[in-house]
Amino acid sequence: MGQPKILATHGLFETAREILNAECDVEYMTGAMRPTREELVARIAERDGLVCLLTEKIDEEVLQAAPKLRIVANVAVGYDNVDVSACTKRGIVVTNTPGVLDETTADFAWTLMMAVARRLGEAERFARSGEWKNWDLDQLCGTDVWGKTLGIVGLGRIGQAMARRAAGFQMKVIYTGRKRAPQEVEKAVNAEYRDLDAMLGEADFVSLHVPLTAETRGMFNAEKFSKMKRSAFLINTARGPVVNEEDLVRALEKGTIAGAGLDVFEREPTIHPGLKRANVVLAPHLGSASVETRTKMACMAAKNVVDFFRGQRPPNAVNPEVLQGS
Ligand code: NAP
Repeated sequence: MGQPKILATHGLFETAREILNAECDVEYMTGAMRPTREELVARIAERDGLVCLLTEKIDEEVLQAAPKLRIVANVAVGYDNVDVSACTKRGIVVTNTPGVLDETTADFAWTLMMAVARRLGEAERFARSGEWKNWDLDQLCGTDVWGKTLGIVGLGRIGQAMARRAAGFQMKVIYTGRKRAPQEVEKAVNAEYRDLDAMLGEADFVSLHVPLTAETRGMFNAEKFSKMKRSAFLINTARGPVVNEEDLVRALEKGTIAGAGLDVFEREPTIHPGLKRANVVLAPHLGSASVETRTKMACMAAKNVVDFFRGQRPPNAVNPEVLQGS
């Protein structure tokens, strides 16, 4: 039997390629643009494994074109782009990259929070414009972050990393989720549980850290914004569709909330024109985007593939039930 045939929808990083190339026959889809769906479907036919990014939708159509496929290694912790139940039905294992991006993503959520509160986007544009003539007492005054209340939606790995950062800013941390976190977690990150509505009424910054699922899709809508303080900011580094963007634009226009820091959008890479406002800081999905972390993510995906074809359990299977008996 020859080496397993793998399709990677990206050139990955050198260290990840070394891991894969040592044991697999890999085709890398490189190029300035992400591969089209047609290209993906055309290339996947004879492949035993796929390494893909969150921009590739791995659904029935793709799976049907890949009768030999046994593993989908997503280079992301969120795997809403993969139809996991369709994979499971076909006995295909799906893996993700949890844990290695927590601190980097929390850093970025914090960056957005600071930037929108202290009006950094506006200030940077102003400084570059040549319009700055003198220091003024009330010029571009923003809102303090320190000492405020941070509301975390989803106290998972990244949510907890956010909570840890709050300690240095003397912030109170409250969180919400489907259930209360274990007491030792609450204690370790000094966070108090609230139900969602209570949290929305109390938080000065609401930061989203839930996965995109059927339950969380559209979770943040007009009703939720109306429960937030008018002085509060929304920070989203989770997934765009967790927020109803039309409702968010209306809430920003009407002053229902004070502003937003957004890394993710409903229809990436399209950004709703109504979000291009002074009180919104925008980023093109950069949460985990440090060289160190993206390299770790790519290596983790590569390791999952290599372990699987060695007959070992891939460490990050999200549907481990397909591995039973293997
Ligand atoms: P995680 O450790 O699984 O944490 C997710 C948290 O959300 C858990 O506390 C979970 O609680 C909670 N949750 C799940 N469904 C919920 C619901 N319906 N209502 C309320 N809470 C719910 O995941 P993570 O590693 O922190 O990552 C979180 C998400 O961040 C990822 O799924 C990904 O989409 C996103 N992300 C984005 C970037 C970026 O570049 N912007 C980077 C990394 C991650 P339970 O214990 O009840 O499940």
